[in-house]
Amino acid sequence: MNKPVLGIPQNTIEILRKYNFSFQKKFGQNFLIDTHVLDKIIRAADINRDDLVLEIGPGIGTMTQYLAQEAGKVVAVEIDKNLIPILSETLGGYGNVRIINEDVLKMDIRRLVEEENGAKPVKVVANLPYYITTPIIMGLFEEHVPVESITVMVQKEVADRMQTGPGSKDYGALSLAVQYYASPYIVANVPPNCFMPRPKVGSAVIRLTCHERPPVEVADERLMFDIIRASFNQRRKTLANGLKNSDRIHFSKELIAEAVERLGKGASVRGESLTLEEFAELSNYFVESLT
Ligand code: SAM
Repeated sequence: MNKPVLGIPQNTIEILRKYNFSFQKKFGQNFLIDTHVLDKIIRAADINRDDLVLEIGPGIGTMTQYLAQEAGKVVAVEIDKNLIPILSETLGGYGNVRIINEDVLKMDIRRLVEEENGAKPVKVVANLPYYITTPIIMGLFEEHVPVESITVMVQKEVADRMQTGPGSKDYGALSLAVQYYASPYIVANVPPNCFMPRPKVGSAVIRLTCHERPPVEVADERLMFDIIRASFNQRRKTLANGLKNSDRIHFSKELIAEAVERLGKGASVRGESLTLEEFAELSNYFVESLT
């Protein structure tokens, strides 16, 4: 098997020139050109020969080469058709890589994972396109794709949002989803000069280790996340008003007032001050009241 040759700026430039490749801003293309960062990601992802790795957005295959060295198999989903011939060259020496030319948001990832790995959870590793970080992560969680861990490069600000709690301006639906489904850990902060072209924002590698079982019992997950979204959609409003104004939730004014009162935090409490346990309690109360 070939050793990784990408990750060094000269080699990246050479391959991009050979194929006359132009970066597409709309696809969030910022390719990694730092071997130390690549080593850190691979170490944090903790991959071995028994693992199937799902990579989202392989680009020219830089991280894919590193992943293929460690994993049993790598399945990489890339939207940009201009990158496919490049990937055929850079990954030609690896027999354990499958490239799929698709939009990851339009794929049935759960089915793909089940076809490739049966019921065994996969490890997701990626330098994510920043414009769709949240839908990708939420999709993996909400579709219940069997995933053991997610080790990804994201915008620094998004990494902060993923691991914060009530009282912070960064706290929101993404923080609560991450807490419900996984334990977050920031592996490293990564400056713009580790990418080509350089992004305008700082980045961070975050590892989400997925829970075998969520930390709170929730009778209706979808309802709890609808409540969470409704609470944060209108941050300046009280929790009760947020719930009343939501077009996804259809409870009476009286039931909403009763449920909010039971939290014991006053009628004017805002959603942004509630913990995951309190959102679980609130949604379970609605379920109980309606059955
Ligand atoms: N992994 C490469 C690296 O680290 O050098 C590239 C990372 S770059 C930040 C994001 C990659 O995701 C690009 O290759 C881009 O074309 C791809 N991408 C963007 N949107 C996508 C989508 N909806 N589905 C699949 N891939 C996508």
